[in-house]
Amino acid sequence: MNDRMLIDGQWTEGESGRRIEVRNPATGEVFAAVSEGDAGSIDQAVAAARASFEDGRWRDLPPATRGKILWRLADLLEANADEIARLETSNVGMPLVMAHYQVSAAAEALRYFAGWATKIHGRSTELNNGFQRHMGYTLREPVGVVGAIVPWNAPLLMVAWKLGPALAAGCSTVLKPAENTPLTALAFGRLALEAGIPAGVVNVVPGYGATAGAALAAHMDVDKLSFTGSTNVGRELLRAATGNFKRLTLELGGKSPFIICEDAALDEAIGAAQMAILANCGQNCSAGSRLIVHRSVYDRVLEGVAAGARGIPQGDGLDPASQIGPLVSQKQLERVSAYIESGKAGGATVVAGGERLDRPGYFVQPTVFADVAGDLAIAREEIFGPVLVVSRFDEVDEAVAMANDTDYGLASYVWSQDAKRPHQIARRIRAGTVWVNTALAIDPSLPVGGFKQSGWGRENGPDGIEAYLETKSVIAAI
Ligand code: NAD
Repeated sequence: MNDRMLIDGQWTEGESGRRIEVRNPATGEVFAAVSEGDAGSIDQAVAAARASFEDGRWRDLPPATRGKILWRLADLLEANADEIARLETSNVGMPLVMAHYQVSAAAEALRYFAGWATKIHGRSTELNNGFQRHMGYTLREPVGVVGAIVPWNAPLLMVAWKLGPALAAGCSTVLKPAENTPLTALAFGRLALEAGIPAGVVNVVPGYGATAGAALAAHMDVDKLSFTGSTNVGRELLRAATGNFKRLTLELGGKSPFIICEDAALDEAIGAAQMAILANCGQNCSAGSRLIVHRSVYDRVLEGVAAGARGIPQGDGLDPASQIGPLVSQKQLERVSAYIESGKAGGATVVAGGERLDRPGYFVQPTVFADVAGDLAIAREEIFGPVLVVSRFDEVDEAVAMANDTDYGLASYVWSQDAKRPHQIARRIRAGTVWVNTALAIDPSLPVGGFKQSGWGRENGPDGIEAYLETKSVIAAI
């Protein structure tokens, strides 16, 4: 297991000598400790990234070579999938099958962006405003040194979604994983070197948000910052980025609506609604946390999701019987528990769950609330836990209004067997993703990102590579 930071191709302890303890959320026990990076470590990592960018050791490689190396990195991730998935499960708590899926999804994202390396083109144009015998063309160039700050809920996959396109574009990178889940990011750094990415192009500095994260966000020599995490921190990063007007991609929170119409395939819809809120114990930015159900099927759906919440096997992610694990940390357990208590105090009805589990680790029961007043925090704020709020509607217009009645706009779900209706609804929902008669299906070819306070910009798809490029116009007399 790699437990030191990676700067300029070297595994280093960091000047402070301090370490961050890493816990297994299924037991609460410390099972590793990694070097703690601070502002000084970030300075060193940014300097290494800058040097590697300026001397062209990566950006000036033939694009096909960059693509082949990224593909090799994807292969290495898969060849080490057992080790990496176990690290992810031990550190995040997600079931091992889900951790394996995330390793595959990370590898597929790298392969998708490996393909983009050879498809980054400018355009040529004739000048037509009086400059005769001139021509112009555009160059697409890597944006430069990229800072990537990733969260703890899907640590490896978020690394691939950021470093995949950044590296395909020819950028050099400094990655700061979340303080509590650094292990798979460090493994990624090791495999990046093994794949042949030159020293200094991928630097990995574990550290706290307020120190290492803030230093990276404010750094005057970082050209682009890509962040996934909470909306509040996103707001701070906006301010931090003003120093040098660094480019920003922000993938922030959500409170995503899941609409079930009266003509939905109900059994499937109930199963999907359950998965949309319970996958990764609700710690998913696209979790379907607001279930909005047509009055005529409301009782059946409520009963179905509540029974599902009561019956789902919960336990240590390393136990193959577990379909959901614990929350990631004591802090998250307290946060989610406080939301549940605030819902009860606000008069909402607990239809399932509502308590912590009486066992070691950070376990809370999957919880379903009904009869929730619209202004309660559980109806409006991102809980990031297995907590579902169910409400009913009569007319489609009402469902759309309820879906859009949020500060967020990351994802949404629509269930109806009508040929046209879900697509009509999809057009009216202000969110970056609409899943129609499915849930949480993702693909690197499709952009992910938010409307409103869910963020700025998109990751994945063609937009994902754009986010790491600058455009330069060249105008020449001929
Ligand atoms: P967070 O936003 O604080 O942490 C995400 C990342 O940002 C971590 O790497 C962290 O170290 C870093 N960070 C924190 N403060 C920073 C700062 N001032 N400058 C730079 N980097 C900083 O999230 P959290 O506190 O771990 O979780 C709180 C809530 O955020 C969750 O309950 C959830 O609602 C939300 N969240 C959302 C996502 C998402 O994918 N949208 C992911 C994680 C958390």
